[in-house]
Amino acid sequence: MQSPTELVALFRRKGLKVTPQRVAIFEALQGDTGHPTAVTIYDRVAAGMPSISLRTVYQTLNDLAAMGEIQCHTIGTAAIRFDANVDDHQHLVCDGCGAIADTYLDVSCLRQGELAGFDVARTTVVLHGTCRRCAEAAPDPQ
Ligand SMILES: [Zn+2]
Ligand SMILES: [Zn+2]
Repeated sequence: MQSPTELVALFRRKGLKVTPQRVAIFEALQGDTGHPTAVTIYDRVAAGMPSISLRTVYQTLNDLAAMGEIQCHTIGTAAIRFDANVDDHQHLVCDGCGAIADTYLDVSCLRQGELAGFDVARTTVVLHGTCRRCAEAAPDPQ
């Protein structure tokens, strides 16, 4: 994702309105590696800007996704998660707390073999398990 300042310029170039609400959403996404849901972004922005609506958050996230500035994932969770990291990457999903972290694995081997002419654009791999925080919080098995 580009910086909030660059996104403001991008939205203006595309003829989209840039409101303080939208800028606050850009800032809430910036540097968030936790794969937030729209509701998480909404809660964060609404804390300082109670007038914002969830609809505005969804609209802005959809606009950003349509421009390729963020990714949308459905990773075994009910809510769509938004991702400011648009690099080719995979995800680690904690079965305990639901945390989603980025990981970079070489998954090119998955593209080998008989694909019947299927043209692979991208490979999505989700690894389920227990994050470090949940593992450390668990009682010692004795
Ligand atoms: Zn966890
Ligand atoms: Zn990610």
